[in-house]
Amino acid sequence: MRVVIVGGGFAGTFLAYYLCEMKASLPGLEIILISRTNYLLFQPFMVEAITGDIDIRHLISPLRAMLNYPCVDIRTTDAESVDFNRRIVYTSNGTVSYDKLIVATGSETNFYGIPGAKESCLELKQLKDVLIIRNTLLKSFERANIEENKETQSRHLTFAVIGAGPTGVELATGMCEFIHETLLKYYHRVHIEAINILLIDAAPRLLPGFETSLVEWAENRIKHMNIKLMLNHKVQKIDGDIIEFTNGSSIEARTIIWTAGIQASSFVRSMGLPYDHLGRLSVDSKLKLPNRPDVFVLGDAARAINLKTGEPLPPEGQVALQQAKYVANLLVAEQEGRPYPAFKFIRLGRLASLGSKNAITQILWFRFKGFKAWWLWRSVYLFRYRGMRNKLRILFDWTFSLFFDRDISLIE
Ligand SMILES: Cc1cc2nc3c(=O)[nH]c(=O)nc-3n(C[C@H](O)[C@H](O)[C@H](O)COP(=O)(O)OP(=O)(O)OC[C@H]3O[C@@H](n4cnc5c(N)ncnc54)[C@H](O)[C@@H]3O)c2cc1C
Repeated sequence: MRVVIVGGGFAGTFLAYYLCEMKASLPGLEIILISRTNYLLFQPFMVEAITGDIDIRHLISPLRAMLNYPCVDIRTTDAESVDFNRRIVYTSNGTVSYDKLIVATGSETNFYGIPGAKESCLELKQLKDVLIIRNTLLKSFERANIEENKETQSRHLTFAVIGAGPTGVELATGMCEFIHETLLKYYHRVHIEAINILLIDAAPRLLPGFETSLVEWAENRIKHMNIKLMLNHKVQKIDGDIIEFTNGSSIEARTIIWTAGIQASSFVRSMGLPYDHLGRLSVDSKLKLPNRPDVFVLGDAARAINLKTGEPLPPEGQVALQQAKYVANLLVAEQEGRPYPAFKFIRLGRLASLGSKNAITQILWFRFKGFKAWWLWRSVYLFRYRGMRNKLRILFDWTFSLFFDRDISLIE
């Protein structure tokens, strides 16, 4: 059986790994992994790489090392389209035929067609974005440090993060701490009052999905950090440095980072199949495309329904990982001619960091905030990171950052 997996992210890579581990039950298994990059990017630690808590190189693991099995063939290329009738994937470097196709191409930033947003904002999705945001931050400080005048400095040092979900909150608080604990020590001419960090969201509440008590705690912490929280502010247009809101107000920020939403990858949206408002393909309870029993869609690209709530599952790493394991087991069951139940998502928890040494976590029935939550946050994600080599590298970075200052080199 030839399984073709498109997308070397959480869902695709872990599915390939689980299948290899179950190879004994899948005679003749051949896996072709089509991936745009030759590494797996561990997105939950991206903010820590921006702030220099971990080395940017330690965010990634080479796919060939993670999946060094004889049955795996990794092709670093872009998948372009699929002919479902002939069971062929077209890539930028030739075609690949399949018996089972797994679409796991994840998501990209969704600017919701807001005029100027795509052109004016930085985003946080790929590895290069980490370097771009980090360099923009450092360049702003280099530039401001040349200026005498506080107002001119302020123009360079106003950072707006749009989207107060976990990524936006982690980014705004992480940047704030990096600036106050590290950068201000070295940029002697920068006035502390010239620094403005804005966290903007259209909703009346930040961190959707988290319990109210944790959200309130996070909100207080954000305010205590002097981050300007602008809830109920829906962006209407962005014109260069000017963010305009639907309530008629506007604000100026030299650096604007968009973390307000995602949509399924363009590969999925260009398949010619119906997709929802976030570009996701609807799948049945076994994560298959309707009427296409040989095609599965996983992770951020899928609109899979949570059987317990009736709502679509959120775009989260834990969903992608559980789906990967489920499909591996399902393929074995199908091979053996056994019936297999529908996919059931089990929420293990929600975690969000608020700068280093602070976080909020809800794990099963337990709720934590502050340092304990932060320690848990780190342990949970470190546990998820695959391979001893990667775990040790991250552990070393964290230990190092406890005793030494974060790196502030501007590498272009
Ligand atoms: C900054 C950030 C922080 C996050 N933090 C958390 C967190 O703390 N907890 C959590 O649960 N989730 C978190 N997430 C979400 C989580 O990372 C995603 O839900 C998860 O990665 C989805 O897995 P996936 O396999 O669907 O997509 P991805 O992991 O994004 O993988 C998709 C892969 O497909 C590749 N690809 C795309 N198009 C093509 C193509 N045409 N051809 C070939 N390859 C292609 C991409 O390059 C990518 O490698 C975070 C996301 C971000 C951006």
